[in-house]
Amino acid sequence: MRLVLIGPPGAGKGTQAAILSEKLGVPHISTGDLFRDHVSRRTSLGRDAQRYLDTGELVPDHLTSSMVRERLEQPDARPGFLLDGFPRTVPQAHELTGVLDGFGATLDAVLELTAPEDVLVARLLGRGRPDDAVDVIRQRQRVYWQQTAPLLDHYASILLSVPALGPVEEITARILDSLAGRTRLLEGPLEPS
Ligand code: AMP
Repeated sequence: MRLVLIGPPGAGKGTQAAILSEKLGVPHISTGDLFRDHVSRRTSLGRDAQRYLDTGELVPDHLTSSMVRERLEQPDARPGFLLDGFPRTVPQAHELTGVLDGFGATLDAVLELTAPEDVLVARLLGRGRPDDAVDVIRQRQRVYWQQTAPLLDHYASILLSVPALGPVEEITARILDSLAGRTRLLEGPLEPS
């Protein structure tokens, strides 16, 4: 299964992606985690990306796309993946389509996690990551609505929107339910035997 998880910062994408990756048996690919790993290893990509992470801006598409392309070409991601934090712009979505075209593959669904902004900010303030200072949080929310939210229209035909409120396991159950509905739809009506 090839899935993309989209949602504003604080919606719980990382938490849900880790659980879903286990349940669905596909690798969890988080561009935020990949960037943080480069920053901590002080690679040249990490040095280029750091100031964007620190200010809550998006890392330029050319740096992001080549990192993702390389990751998707790894053997474990060929049968399926759960992308968390990519694509985040319409050009990145085109880049993803291009990579998948190369494999003769398509996305099965795009999952959107939704939550009111005050809940999101409260969650992020409690998390304590280095880019969770209040001004950086606000900037990441702005960037989401300006640059990432247009993807919801782009993916309208395969979009599944799930409210990300309540206990973690309830949100997971809601996601799995909506994915099951989508899978049934893709498979179509059962042939009479
Ligand atoms: P996240 O862990 O998804 O919240 O990402 C943390 C930070 O990594 C973001 O605020 C961006 O600076 C950067 N980042 C992650 N994914 C992307 C992406 N697809 N495009 C550009 N920047 C990204």
